[in-house]
Amino acid sequence: METRFKRVVVKAGSNVLTCDDGTPDTSTMESIVGQIARLRECGTEVILVSSGAVVSGKNILKSSRKLDAVSARQLFSAVGQARLINSYYELFSRHGIMCGQVLTTKESLSTRDHYLNQMNCMTVMLENGVIPIVNENDTISVTELMFTDNDELSGMVATMMDAECLVILSNVNGIYNGNPDLPETHVIREIHPGEDISGFIRSGKSGFGRGGMITKYRIASKVADEGIEVIIANGKRPGILQDLVLGTGSETECTRFLPSDKPISHVKKWIAHSEGFAKGTIHVNQGAFEALTGEKASSLLPVGVTAVEGEFEKGDIVRIISPDGLPAGVGKVSLGSQKAREIMGQKGKKPLIHYDYLYIETND
Ligand code: GLU
Repeated sequence: METRFKRVVVKAGSNVLTCDDGTPDTSTMESIVGQIARLRECGTEVILVSSGAVVSGKNILKSSRKLDAVSARQLFSAVGQARLINSYYELFSRHGIMCGQVLTTKESLSTRDHYLNQMNCMTVMLENGVIPIVNENDTISVTELMFTDNDELSGMVATMMDAECLVILSNVNGIYNGNPDLPETHVIREIHPGEDISGFIRSGKSGFGRGGMITKYRIASKVADEGIEVIIANGKRPGILQDLVLGTGSETECTRFLPSDKPISHVKKWIAHSEGFAKGTIHVNQGAFEALTGEKASSLLPVGVTAVEGEFEKGDIVRIISPDGLPAGVGKVSLGSQKAREIMGQKGKKPLIHYDYLYIETND
């Protein structure tokens, strides 16, 4: 059977891998593994981003004392991750497939060297027929520097690994255009690049994971903007991955974010996901804002800068803020904050952020 994609990232959330009573949903896990094995037979490389460590540890451990949130996350994930990877190892072995564990933290992806190193790790695994199973290393990640959730991590992995598609498996069929309990509500089937449907999304999260639909939507839009198709679908549905990746179920209910046909460079993709590492903030005037968001490729020149906040060094990531005070993008600076303050507003200076190291959010 023909596959639609050569490489996909599949993200399985805690809610997909867990039963309502908090015990691991072994039959869903078995089904997902079986489907991934089938995708491989059809020529698709798969990277699995799997949550479920914390909930899996919590389910078997009773602590002797009341734990604070950080200690609980560390204790439960330490045990739960071992349990989780053990199950995957066993399940993939039944299909004659080798899998391996990749644990990461947001901080350890914060420089381009670390990023490329992580990319190399997963590339060598895939080249050797090993399925990378990725999760945040919750035992060592510092609360303030954590990924919002594994949706964010999966977006970064899809971008980093040049995947053609990111499938986010949740326990709902997709993004609804209203309250799912009402009969007139339905799943939004397709979202075009730049289309804003945020008004439909209800805040709050359900069940066992950290994330919710708002982060899913934010990440999915960003990743689709980078030229990767993103699908939010129900991981509890049997055969869902085959339906979506092999195209056997074109009518399958899910939300599809159509990829932008203006793919961006690999460096820009890294920068696009680097906002969390930003060391400072640069405010720009209207002229610079229009140049940056216009059709022509433009670098950010000191003349267009109105304020520089925070302390940063050459090569650090900074946030760019529009004249209206709204986030406009992210970039890698060619000067430190002190020098940037000295020359801001001046004409005839070299770019503060070169176009190649600039990622501007498109909301059109
Ligand atoms: N890394 C967490 C875990 O494995 C999941 C984070 C999330 O819910 O997205 O339990």
